[in-house]
Amino acid sequence: MMPEKNAKAPKKKRERPPPTKKVAMPEQDPLVRNKNFQEVALGYTEEQALEEANKCLQCRNPKCIGGCPVEVDIKDFIALIREKKFMEAALKIKETNSLPAVCGRVCPQETQCEQPCIYGIRNEPIAIGRLERFVADYARAHGEPIPKLPPKNGKKVGVIGSGPASLTCAGDLVKLGYEVTIFEAFHKPGGVLAYGIPQFRLPKEIVMAEVEYLEKLGVEIKFNHVIGKIRTVLELMNDDGYDAIFLGTGAGAPNFMRIPGMNLVTVFSANEFLTRVNLMKAYEFPEYDTPFRIGNRVAVIGGGNVAMDAARTSLRLGAEHVQIVYRRSRTELPARLEEVHHAEEEGVEFRLLTNPTEIIGNEKGEVIGMQCIKMELGEPDESGRRRPIPIEGSEFIVDVDMVVVAIGNSPNPIIPQTTPGLEVSKWGTITINEESGMTSLPGVFAGGDIVTGAATVISAAGAGKQAARGIHKYLTGE
Ligand code: FAD
Ligand code: SF4
Repeated sequence: MMPEKNAKAPKKKRERPPPTKKVAMPEQDPLVRNKNFQEVALGYTEEQALEEANKCLQCRNPKCIGGCPVEVDIKDFIALIREKKFMEAALKIKETNSLPAVCGRVCPQETQCEQPCIYGIRNEPIAIGRLERFVADYARAHGEPIPKLPPKNGKKVGVIGSGPASLTCAGDLVKLGYEVTIFEAFHKPGGVLAYGIPQFRLPKEIVMAEVEYLEKLGVEIKFNHVIGKIRTVLELMNDDGYDAIFLGTGAGAPNFMRIPGMNLVTVFSANEFLTRVNLMKAYEFPEYDTPFRIGNRVAVIGGGNVAMDAARTSLRLGAEHVQIVYRRSRTELPARLEEVHHAEEEGVEFRLLTNPTEIIGNEKGEVIGMQCIKMELGEPDESGRRRPIPIEGSEFIVDVDMVVVAIGNSPNPIIPQTTPGLEVSKWGTITINEESGMTSLPGVFAGGDIVTGAATVISAAGAGKQAARGIHKYLTGE
């Protein structure tokens, strides 16, 4: 039969290409890496970085930038990668972020810059974090140029603590011509970057390289200086001639559960455990004379990044069995998805909807078991997450010989206790003016975990940046 005149041929449906995934990150094999402290993720090669960067749409209205707490010009740094201008790309990031090699490794990009990425509407978003890490590592390997600084302006700023908030604040101020001195309580700089986040996620050489860069810019660091003990904040200002002070002392005091057995000798806070391993190099025993005796069966209480770090560290130190004990379900785990995935791959067991009620010890005070109760989820609480409710009569004993508690940290009270007039909240965090970062004391600024409570590296860095602007405005009236 002849086709009817004017009859239209049926339109062929254009097939959409399947969603693309991020270029995969090369990683150590899980069953090899769970026995060593070398970095898990190995970083992109040049070819992989170019392949990923070339997928970026170079959007006219790049939503990624709004997702970054320090507003890195993501679109432009990716454009520079596409032109193979890797050093320029690193310098572009450094315009607003002093710690790209750190942030490229530990920032929760999936809930920040990558979440609003327009390419991510149909595909996996552009792997912004992996690209950031690639250019930062490239710049470190190829000798980053030191920018020309303005002449010194004759004003001195004291920065207390050397975590990401302080390092960022110090870096921004020295670039404006200030004489900056960091006072750090420990014998090493970096705050949580040095003593908390383990080597296999964030090699300490990287943190030290970022710190050395600041030293080359002229920042001075005084170690073993606990402010509040050696000198007070007011002495620094009134007697030692500091024109302004930044408090970036973090939230390093661990929280414990109020259950029997918390004082047993093989119960540790995640802070103490990770500090002994990272800062005191327990994992390099016998080269470092600071061993840590790990249990055979370790329970880590908590579900955040700190808990994942403690669990994965325990495995690497030789524990036979490691479990995460968390009172809510998998959906509510606060840790980054990637960290949960890595922990599972390495052999950490997850005991979810479970809460400890007592840690049981022997006559020597060592842990020999942990009583737990099963939980179910009720209505959402003030945090928006469903409230865990104990199931009556569901108690059971878990066979463990070491417990690590990773249920959060609070600010150390030493600075508020020794600084009259410094306002703090009921949680012990320091109160600031949201816009300037200034505390209740004129000339004293604060930012990072000491203000927000335990948060993220990039939010601390953002707060350090904001405070540097506030200090500059305060001291110049500009
Ligand atoms: P900190 O990093 O805590 O630094 C504070 C510094 O001040 C310390 O060096 C301390 O010694 C010093 N100090 C304290 N008191 C005094 C004093 N009186 N005098 C002198 N110095 C003092 N965030 C992420 O974004 N991604 C992650 O993957 C991640 N993982 C984490 C894993 C662990 C184990 C921990 C503990 C935290 C993790 N975080 C992560 C959170 C993040 O590290 C912190 O939010 C961030 O480091 C806070 O920075 P800060 O500069 O405010 O304080
Ligand atoms: Fe590229 Fe995504 Fe940013 Fe667009 S939103 S410029 S695709 S990274």
